[in-house]
Amino acid sequence: MSQAFASVKKEEENLLCSTYSRYPLAVARGKGAHLWDTDGKRYVDLLAGIAVTALGHCNDELCAVLEAQSRKLWHVSNLFYQEEQLELARLLLSTSHHEKAFFCNSGAEANEACIKLARRYMRTVKKRDACEIVTLEGCFHGRTLGALAATGRANLSEGFAPLPEGFRQIPADMAALEAALTPNTAALLVEVVQGEGGVVPLSGDWLRAAEALCRKRNILFLCDEVQAGLCRTGSFWAFQQFGLKPDAISIAKSLGNGLPIGAMLATHEAARGFAPGSHATTFGGGSLVSAVAAKTVEIMLRDKLADRAALLGTHLRASLEALQKRCSPKIREVRGAGLMVGIELDVPGNEVWQELLRRGYICNLSHGTTLRLLPPLTIEQDDLDVFVACLEDILHKTETR
Ligand SMILES: *Cc1c(COP(=O)(O)O)cnc(C)c1O
Repeated sequence: MSQAFASVKKEEENLLCSTYSRYPLAVARGKGAHLWDTDGKRYVDLLAGIAVTALGHCNDELCAVLEAQSRKLWHVSNLFYQEEQLELARLLLSTSHHEKAFFCNSGAEANEACIKLARRYMRTVKKRDACEIVTLEGCFHGRTLGALAATGRANLSEGFAPLPEGFRQIPADMAALEAALTPNTAALLVEVVQGEGGVVPLSGDWLRAAEALCRKRNILFLCDEVQAGLCRTGSFWAFQQFGLKPDAISIAKSLGNGLPIGAMLATHEAARGFAPGSHATTFGGGSLVSAVAAKTVEIMLRDKLADRAALLGTHLRASLEALQKRCSPKIREVRGAGLMVGIELDVPGNEVWQELLRRGYICNLSHGTTLRLLPPLTIEQDDLDVFVACLEDILHKTETR
């Protein structure tokens, strides 16, 4: 441990609430798909701030927009009309079948908006007292009390009871869904690819059947696109790969390429659930973040980053599957879609993850066994190839359990 790192680590322990077990790495700067620590060591960033910096660190075009907007207007609140917010809404809505946007500041808040919209839509538009939100086991929807209740994992909510009522988690099978949807159900909320759950793609057939059942029972179908959305899985929105038409979606993570912003997109019909005064946020969709987010979306569309994610993702997963054969049985499974990739290991995951970090590759270890890769969508193929070669070398030297 270097002197510089040791002192940062000590300061952190003194000054911050201990909510994180941090990686042994103090980041000093970044450019594109690379980061440098406080000792000047370079890393390939295969995590992108947890699927956030999709266009890479300190993207020149975004820097230019940020600098220009910072001299024009930062924040006035949602009491005013702001052209930057409208431009962002126009761009986002051009990418899906949705017709209305609501801006907020994070993924959890985007899910709160979806949940509140679903409940209020049922009461005020459908005149039905249906409030229950059904979610799936292994899901993750955020850390506010409502989003925690939606997530429903005992280990995350330990010590925080009571959580809001009206949430139910089920396994992703049709019999469980049939049984869970009652006259009291307002919505089904799903991630097309579960991210925090360890990169678990749901089956397209199941998703289509689930959506159809929601339609039949007059229940809203909602997708959490916070992690899988915005080109990550090889289509602009993950739900588009299966021809789904969710009534509303939550988005955040890479929307501002690192500036905090979230949003809910809804159909015109579902958006009737909100009226002036029914939901609000001070910061949501402010001029500065909206200008940067609009440029982010514009670049994603202009540079066809969904196609790039699909192509690079296919290449990466093929390389990893070839590696799986070469070092059998040390990799149990390679999962994912586009540049959202999970490598399920059959060797001690923490050792492999630590050695990757020591050799200059940043990824996430999920559930102790799954390496989760969420690289910038602009990453060069070469950076992915050297990672796979490095992983191979590490696995050759790692003993099977
Ligand atoms: C990260 C994440 C969230 C929570 O987003 P925050 O910005 O941390 O509140 C919600 N849903 C999914 C699928 C996520 O990956």
